[in-house]
Amino acid sequence: MGRIADVAEKFWTGAISTHDQHPFTPLMALEEVAPGVAFVSSFANVTAVAGERGLTLIDTGSAQFASQVHGSVREWSEAPVELAVYTHGHIDHVFGIKSFDDEAAREGRPAPRVIAHQAVLQRFDRYRATAGYNSCINSRQFSVAVSFPRRFREPDETYASQLTVNLGGFDAELHHARGETDDHTWIWIPSKRVLCTGDLFIWAVPNAGNPQKVQRYPRQWAEALRKMATVGAEVLLPGHGVPIYGEARVAEALSTTAELLETLHDHTLALMNAGAPLSAILREVVVPEHLAQRPWLQPIYDEPEFIVRNVWRLYGGWWDGDPAALKPPEPTAIAREVAALAGGATALAARAEERVAAGELALACQLAEWALQAAPNDDGIQAIRSRIYLLRAARETSLMARNIFTDAAERPSKRGPSVP
Ligand SMILES: [Zn+2]
Repeated sequence: MGRIADVAEKFWTGAISTHDQHPFTPLMALEEVAPGVAFVSSFANVTAVAGERGLTLIDTGSAQFASQVHGSVREWSEAPVELAVYTHGHIDHVFGIKSFDDEAAREGRPAPRVIAHQAVLQRFDRYRATAGYNSCINSRQFSVAVSFPRRFREPDETYASQLTVNLGGFDAELHHARGETDDHTWIWIPSKRVLCTGDLFIWAVPNAGNPQKVQRYPRQWAEALRKMATVGAEVLLPGHGVPIYGEARVAEALSTTAELLETLHDHTLALMNAGAPLSAILREVVVPEHLAQRPWLQPIYDEPEFIVRNVWRLYGGWWDGDPAALKPPEPTAIAREVAALAGGATALAARAEERVAAGELALACQLAEWALQAAPNDDGIQAIRSRIYLLRAARETSLMARNIFTDAAERPSKRGPSVP
């Protein structure tokens, strides 16, 4: 068994917990998963498929790991890259194409033909318009300085709902689905029984709730997963994380992920239809225990609570149903008022520490936040607040929550987006 297959087996059985070893961690290795199909474990993953005319790449990886991906593919095959498919336009999936474009230019060959869903073009337009914002939020989400790009390698060919592409002796089916993004493509290669899911499967609670990013589509996402579960794939190659081998396991992984999204979506929508405010929905909607235990459904990147909020946004407005929050007072006005009631900002900060001791970290963060807003230049209160946010970050399982709280702890006096 190769290293990737070995790690994949350990993740599946739970011998390695995804809480201990994040499945997004690239193994920096290539393994053949079916005859003529090589999987490159990177951030994001890349699949290379050998056909009669050359190679097809399914996703191309990030700029950061482009040379690793290029080197791995070239150790495996020297055939020219004829085609590349973007599963979606996220930057960790599309920037690896440059190494292969440059290679073709050096060797006097035509550049790879890139195919993607048509909405990838609008995504790149949006990215150009929001590069500053995306630098801020991605720096915070990943806890590393990100300078978001403004230039993109656009696809040469786009499609709307479904496209069959000849890879040189056999076909691949490209299917559009709204899910994590509006521009997703999943790819099924019947003759190889290989399924490439893109980020519709990532070895974690789906990224369907991301607090800082644009709308996700959990119901249509679940429909795509259900459809993928019926094709009879022997190998599932995910956008992030390790492959899943064996038809029964592939179907199980896909259908349980669909069930998680359906449960969160349908329950949230039912409560919305009953007129419940967001706070009540957040209290009520939970992941059923039989799903919460699955190794591939752990809240280590995104989390269910955020998915509920995303469903609320999908069907509703931004208002959460709390009348006091419709046109609220300035945050500092509330903070000063609460501090006055508590006997001053220092007393409020002390109360925050008491709540920490009681294990009520959400409440502790709110009290500490008010204390600092009431006395923004108080070094002691700043230190208490930072300590509380760091404690909270350490208790969170999802990368998104952990890094937002860590960012808050490190920027005690800063309001608004953090600029690296
Ligand atoms: Zn991704």
